[in-house]
Amino acid sequence: MLFSELPLANPLQRAVRAVGYEQPTPIQEKSIPSLLEKKDLLGIAQTGTGKTAAFALPILQLLLDSGKVRAPKTCRALILLPTRELAIQVEDCFKQYAQFTAISTACIFGGVNDASQKRNLVRGVDVLVATPGRLLDLIGQKAVSLKALEFFVLDEADRMLDMGFIHDIRKVVALLPQNRQNLFFSATMPEDITKLAATILRPNPVRVEVAPQSTPIERIRQELYRIDKRRKGALLKELLLEHPEMKKVLVFSRTKHGADKITRVLEKAGVKCAAIHGNKSQNRRQEALGNFKSEKIRVLVATDIAARGIDVDDVSHVFNYDLPDVPETFVHRIGRTARAGKDGIAISFCSPDEEQDLRAIEKLTRVKIPEGDKAVYEKLPPPQKETPESEMRNARGRMSRNDAEKRASKSREKQPRGNQSREPQPRENEKPAEGMPHKHRRRNRPGSRARRRMREANGQSMTQ
Ligand code: AMP
Repeated sequence: MLFSELPLANPLQRAVRAVGYEQPTPIQEKSIPSLLEKKDLLGIAQTGTGKTAAFALPILQLLLDSGKVRAPKTCRALILLPTRELAIQVEDCFKQYAQFTAISTACIFGGVNDASQKRNLVRGVDVLVATPGRLLDLIGQKAVSLKALEFFVLDEADRMLDMGFIHDIRKVVALLPQNRQNLFFSATMPEDITKLAATILRPNPVRVEVAPQSTPIERIRQELYRIDKRRKGALLKELLLEHPEMKKVLVFSRTKHGADKITRVLEKAGVKCAAIHGNKSQNRRQEALGNFKSEKIRVLVATDIAARGIDVDDVSHVFNYDLPDVPETFVHRIGRTARAGKDGIAISFCSPDEEQDLRAIEKLTRVKIPEGDKAVYEKLPPPQKETPESEMRNARGRMSRNDAEKRASKSREKQPRGNQSREPQPRENEKPAEGMPHKHRRRNRPGSRARRRMREANGQSMTQ
């Protein structure tokens, strides 16, 4: 099928040609006709499948058809996304597809001053792309209202729930007018997502499910390096210096702190790089991403949340500097390379305490990752001996949220009854520091450090 065979108006056909699409992707072919018939849609698809155009093009067509005009401080279509990067990208797509029409777009997200966002809403917009927190904030300030909404898209629903947006989503949905067309997209459909979809979609929505263009695993060449934690930086540096063909390299770090550390090591070695994660300002993140896209920098170091949904073509190599403890995350990560039919290479570092994660990944992907070139180990400094302290640090860093919670609840259980207030209690034999208020006597509550690390690893502290 060709795009020209789809019932899309001339300005949209022109835009599609201008961005270089000829044939609709499977999700576009399946979704666009149903959406043009004003049906609700449940789409099970990941980024990379072309799902943005699958919903943007029919929405634009219906906006053009309806002949309505936008009223001040309202929007006609709302696209809700979990992160600012995704919001910006999706608005960019709408802008491209609407470039030959008079349809207006705006994008709102947290972490930046809201003044210009509010200004953009004063006259009303046709398409509003938003993250949930900032949207509710601006609705609260009466900068925008959803009363004139005609189309509602909830994108990346599973990620939204992972990031704890369920209450915000419910609040937004409660503000939507009854009469609207709904589109719901999620990469996975566990039970809680199915339930959420049922509260948003009208009965009997069209269901469209597409696998990623091809299972990335099949097209990605993988290599594994078994290496102790302390020498991962040296190994990364060595591989990058030895292989100039590693041109556009995405490095995944489990934590924000780790990502910064990696960039310091690489910068010292003269490798042009930048990190993106939740502690970086929006401008710094956009700048880093722009420089990576235009190949001004060779390496982008990212945490999982920051990298999610970032649409960068031609990533030549993905490095798993740390293995993720959720095996599905590994698949998401390495899927950033080998896009659009190209081949890609994924290189994973596995320290002794990550062997369990490696087994889970190999089980999920049904691929035994072959070992990389062993000669590189000879070029690295000799391994340093682990001290009891460093081992403890590693063990704590690896503690999963469940383990941390189990440990925390075990320690709480150990406390005598009647002593279970939320206030931290001194450990047995621990003398309260004199002259200190009680709550400051013990700084580390059981599991608190591990929980903090986990939060960081999951990017939960990264607000929109
Ligand atoms: P998405 O899944 O919407 O994030 O799209 C992934 C990538 O595919 C983006 O770079 C799009 O520009 C591109 N794309 C979307 N639809 C098509 C198409 N029909 N033909 C070629 N590329 C496309």
